[in-house]
Amino acid sequence: NKQILLAKRPEGTPDKDTFKIVETEIKKPGDGEILIRTIYVSVDPYMRGRMVDAPSYVPPYQLDDVLGGGAIGEVVESKSQRFAQGDIVIGSYGWQSYYKAKEDEVRKIDKDIAPISTHLGILGMPGLTAYFGLLDIGKPKEGETVVISGAAGAVGSVVGQIAKIKGARVIGIAGTDEKNQYLKEELHFDEAINYKTTSNLQEDIAKACPNGVDVYFDNVGGEISDAVHANLNKYARISICGAISSYNLEGEDIGPRIQTTLIKKSVLMQGFTLGDFADRFAEGSQALAQWLQEDKLKYEETIKEGFDNIPEAFLDLFKGNNIGKLLVKV
Ligand code: NDP
Repeated sequence: NKQILLAKRPEGTPDKDTFKIVETEIKKPGDGEILIRTIYVSVDPYMRGRMVDAPSYVPPYQLDDVLGGGAIGEVVESKSQRFAQGDIVIGSYGWQSYYKAKEDEVRKIDKDIAPISTHLGILGMPGLTAYFGLLDIGKPKEGETVVISGAAGAVGSVVGQIAKIKGARVIGIAGTDEKNQYLKEELHFDEAINYKTTSNLQEDIAKACPNGVDVYFDNVGGEISDAVHANLNKYARISICGAISSYNLEGEDIGPRIQTTLIKKSVLMQGFTLGDFADRFAEGSQALAQWLQEDKLKYEETIKEGFDNIPEAFLDLFKGNNIGKLLVKV
């Protein structure tokens, strides 16, 4: 059994020394337990936050502990009435090739709706984040303009498509021409802007949004968001989902202040974590599955192969080496 542990708390951008791969014995399941062989492991930006020893909405990782996170696997041995050998299950047991789980630690997933990997992406945590963050906080109306940063990632790509379903004009901001081409050609975004090659992002947003910005779904924070804020309309809504541009900063993230913009434009800005909507996951999952089946939603996955490549895959998130959901097939 292979496990990846937190070897060292990172300062700045994590690197290979942050992680340690160890071999351990595979544990036998006892009564009410199952043994899972991992198939897919999720790597997610929020895991960077858990590497810091500070209180947050999820507890920090402990040194020498397995890095917890979303994972999908097959039940290879069951001592539980609830699971049979061959069932596919999802849990948050993280970066390990086998896991002995108590029966209430994981849940079975439906293999028939879509490939099982989608339960870590569009039908799972990132898809639900897009659904609730856009519809409950951004509240786009037909004909309004929605701008999304981190637009070609797991969350952003779903946000844009839901905004299109709701009849909005959708503009994505992402870091490569290939991603922007994908957003426009495959996902039918109205415009897409490469923030890395533009000479003036604020102006490019103004050009792409002739009627201003009504909803800003923010995945990245920092200078990209400053450029969007300058284009907000009266009564705009900002859904603060993530701030990946600041996750590896060593100091405080200090930028232009936004208060006067919020006042002058009567803007509503709200941060959230997906857990805020825990009592409505069934609604979100059902809507996402239905849109997927009706071909109203498309998804992309960037799948890296090999257990030992999990740390590198995680680091790829910060280099922008993914379109859609980044996963590792172990
Ligand atoms: P993504 O699939 O979007 O992957 C991360 C992407 O972020 C990269 O592909 C890269 O794309 C972009 N990025 C990386 N560094 C920077 C940077 N310095 N500036 C701008 N863009 C950068 O990840 P997710 O969809 O899983 O997550 C997106 C955001 O949503 C994250 O901030 C995450 O923390 C947050 N999140 C929040 C949740 C919540 O409950 N609030 C739940 C899930 C996610 P590019 O090439 O465009 O730079």
